[in-house]
Amino acid sequence: MVKAEGVHKSYGAAHILRGIDLEVANGEVFCLVGPSGSGKSTFLRCINHLERIDGGRLSVDGQLVGYRQKGDKLYELRDSEVALQRRDIGMVFQRFNLFPHMTALANVMEAPIQVKGEARAVARERAERLLDRVGLGEKMGNYPSQLSGGQQQRVAIARALAMEPKLMLFDEPTSALDPELVGDVLDVMRDLAESGMTMIVVTHEMGFAREVGDSLVFMDGGVVVESGHPRDVLTDPQHDRTKAFLSKVL
Ligand code: ATP
Ligand code: MG
Repeated sequence: MVKAEGVHKSYGAAHILRGIDLEVANGEVFCLVGPSGSGKSTFLRCINHLERIDGGRLSVDGQLVGYRQKGDKLYELRDSEVALQRRDIGMVFQRFNLFPHMTALANVMEAPIQVKGEARAVARERAERLLDRVGLGEKMGNYPSQLSGGQQQRVAIARALAMEPKLMLFDEPTSALDPELVGDVLDVMRDLAESGMTMIVVTHEMGFAREVGDSLVFMDGGVVVESGHPRDVLTDPQHDRTKAFLSKVL
């Protein structure tokens, strides 16, 4: 579903991603861990072309992100074509970023209506089903300010799912939450994983990675240091940098 080959990204003189190679299979839950500043968020942002890579190749579902290849030349996609690629990728951030002036239901209905031109009744039916699925059937009429952080994050997940993405990116979705609210959000993510969704999850929740993850990559300094099955990497890390990092978070 996602293939990165030698992906590089700099901000000015700061060389952040220094040749990322990885592959995420269909239906896989792919956990990305690493110290602050190692480039995890930057890499996620490259996947949906919020950032443009400077080198290497990055593809989602067999399509180059942001480019079209003709012969051995690459052509940049137009904005409308990039928007089409992005429609298939859901993203959930650390901060929930809900529209504050809209109810939970309206938040989840918004993108299919605005972006896909979907009929309100159709969008509404799906939004109700998704909010039920994330355990918020009773709270559809609430505004974000009337929801807990964990509830807001579950609305954010439902909102991303409303576009029926083929890939979901999570950037530390639980790290802004009070500890007692984390479990409900992880339960929703676990349910999503069981439904077969392909997910890339940046997280410090090693319990989640171990139980739900199919692969785990440890990133540091803009490269993949170590990767494997979460159980193996977490219990028997091979590299000193991985060991040092895990000794702090486990
Ligand atoms: P964290 O765990 O703290 O979220 P991260 O692994 O997600 O860290 P990134 O946010 O990808 O790290 O940042 C990697 C580096 O890139 C950091 O040094 C950061 O300061 C720098 N950086 C990120 N975005 C920009 C930007 N838009 N302009 C300049 N530098 C940036
Ligand atoms: Mg980050």
